[in-house]
Amino acid sequence: MSDPIRGNTPKIIAIANQKGGVGKTTTTINLASALAEKGARILVVDLDPQGNASTGLGVDPEDRGFTTYDLLVGDVSLEEVILPTESSDLFIVPATVDLSSADIELMATEKRSFLLHDALRQPDMDRYELDYILIDCPPSLNLLTVNAMVAAHSVLIPLQSEFFALEGLSQLMLSVREVRQTANPNLRIEGVVLTMFDARNNLSQQVEEDARDNLGDLVFQTKIPRNVRVSEAPSFAQSVLQYDPQSKGAMAYRDLAQELLQKHMMVAAQ
Ligand code: ADP
Ligand code: MG
Repeated sequence: MSDPIRGNTPKIIAIANQKGGVGKTTTTINLASALAEKGARILVVDLDPQGNASTGLGVDPEDRGFTTYDLLVGDVSLEEVILPTESSDLFIVPATVDLSSADIELMATEKRSFLLHDALRQPDMDRYELDYILIDCPPSLNLLTVNAMVAAHSVLIPLQSEFFALEGLSQLMLSVREVRQTANPNLRIEGVVLTMFDARNNLSQQVEEDARDNLGDLVFQTKIPRNVRVSEAPSFAQSVLQYDPQSKGAMAYRDLAQELLQKHMMVAAQ
């Protein structure tokens, strides 16, 4: 990987939207896979008790020893929770349903919003030589998502090209603002990515128009099309880039990775 990207500290991106089923997990898995394909070293942190990112990246539930839960509430090191994946440049901290109780358990702790922030800044992180950490958030603005926003440099928001897509976005932006005011003043919006886009559908086009009118440059040029290969890939425990490298879905996630890298190189060059 070229120098502007590989700094001493990895860029941490929370992939968030409190709506379920908008493409957070799909974007986490495939963007991670596309960045790794381009030579970046990536850690995915599965922060959803459903553990779909873990399954999608090929980690069987039986193989999840220590998990994100242990990283947050226990006294385990990163080394003990990080698992390798099929790609040598892609690692994961898996999740299990244990994590669903963390939201309530963490309430009692004083540093409750900083647990993930601190966990991802342990000194043994350096030896993984990571470029990016992608956090797959749960479909809620709960304490887990707040932990992701406090730990992250930026928030990437998947927006499903559907009815009411933009509803709820203001609530998400409000949470970002709150985190900025209280715990993480430099938190940026990385961008909004349109998912499950159907070019033949007027509604998709309407959502794109509204999003670009309202959010301007925050909306990525790249749109992720609705593509059946994307939805099939997780049941083979693969990213769509592995499952069908030439599919429209795989190409779109490569474009998204490229757009993200370019943006970061431009920022680094300034
Ligand atoms: P979230 O993590 O936000 O709940 P998911 O990533 O799990 O959303 O996606 C919800 C559903 O939509 C999943 O079944 C997934 O396979 C499907 N899906 C996501 N993106 C696409 C796409 N581009 N084309 C087709 N199906 C998709
Ligand atoms: Mg999900």
